[in-house]
Amino acid sequence: MKKIAFFDTKSYDRESFDRENNGRYDIRYFETRLTAAAMPLADGCDAACAFVNAEIDRAVVEGLVARGIRVLALRCAGFNNVDFRAAYAAGLTVVRVPAYSPYAVAEHAAALLLSLDRHIHRAAARTRDFNFSLAGLTGFDLHGKTAGIVGTGKIGRIFADICKGFGMRVLAYDAFPNPATGLEYVALDRLLAESDVVSLHCPLLPETRHMIDAAALAKAKRGFTLVNTSRGGLVDSEALLAALRDGTVGAAGLDVYEEESEWFYEDRSDETRQNKTLSLLVSLPNVIVTSHQAFLTHEALANIASTTLSNLDAYFAGAPLENEICYRCLGSGGANKTDCPKRSGGRCHKQEAH
Ligand code: NAD
Repeated sequence: MKKIAFFDTKSYDRESFDRENNGRYDIRYFETRLTAAAMPLADGCDAACAFVNAEIDRAVVEGLVARGIRVLALRCAGFNNVDFRAAYAAGLTVVRVPAYSPYAVAEHAAALLLSLDRHIHRAAARTRDFNFSLAGLTGFDLHGKTAGIVGTGKIGRIFADICKGFGMRVLAYDAFPNPATGLEYVALDRLLAESDVVSLHCPLLPETRHMIDAAALAKAKRGFTLVNTSRGGLVDSEALLAALRDGTVGAAGLDVYEEESEWFYEDRSDETRQNKTLSLLVSLPNVIVTSHQAFLTHEALANIASTTLSNLDAYFAGAPLENEICYRCLGSGGANKTDCPKRSGGRCHKQEAH
């Protein structure tokens, strides 16, 4: 039976993977994240499985391959944490879960927006103290306002539909506009200037890092609400903090944070060591931070387990790997945009399965 070294395990991962696995793999669950130091745990395994905040750098890639592991199954959609050139050079196949529930993420973005707009987080804290004052809780109607969607892939399109359901006007920006969406595409500067709500749904790539920086914020509609359920690195957190303090940004709902890998997914409430910018952000009344939980629904967890194990089934069977990614097929904006051999051969790597 093939063995999977499963890193960064949480109780909910174990439940969904055990249910889906049904005894076909020997899954070795480790709480630690996949790092160079944690590598010996993978000794004797045939595959490694990692989550969103693992740093898959050259040392990790080479460490896996040195242990005879030639396939890394990411149980997430994002892949900005992988050194794909190192993986390609070392012959490490990387597969991912491109979609598990775009609804989960889009609905979480909507939850952040509604909570911020109607001050639900503050109201709930007040009524728990038997404080029924409404002072400071005035919101605004979403109906008739403009939502700017940055990235109109699976999640962005669902969020656009949700906004339309509220009676909002929707503007869109994408490096690869898709006419089939029927959305009104505009330049990013115009989207920022006209939107009351801006929601980020594009991947973190070198060209999108800090796309929301001081210069972008200066072009935005004063007092707009920023929602980021995509990747923390899209936003310059220092610039956002300054913009929240001077009113450029009216509110921010952040499910992701650029230095989240050091903090998210664990209880840090007893620690005195803190990230200064994150501490200041969470202390503001017009900011809600959630711990990269937009994906966390029962439906999404079941789909993550099912697709991850199917990816490994296909790898070990030598079958085409629909969900494989490499630096050649990433391009800007997703798989199969360039000359990757996957287009003709079903796999980025030509090597045989092990
Ligand atoms: P997707 O691939 O379906 O869509 C991404 C869109 O971004 C595409 O339309 C693409 O053309 C566009 N894009 C690419 N480069 C761009 C650029 N430079 N500028 C603007 N747009 C660009 O992806 P998706 O499934 O909709 O996911 C979107 C993002 O959500 C992912 O990249 C991931 O980082 C994030 N995500 C977060 C969570 C969470 O739990 N918070 C869960 C899943 C995904």
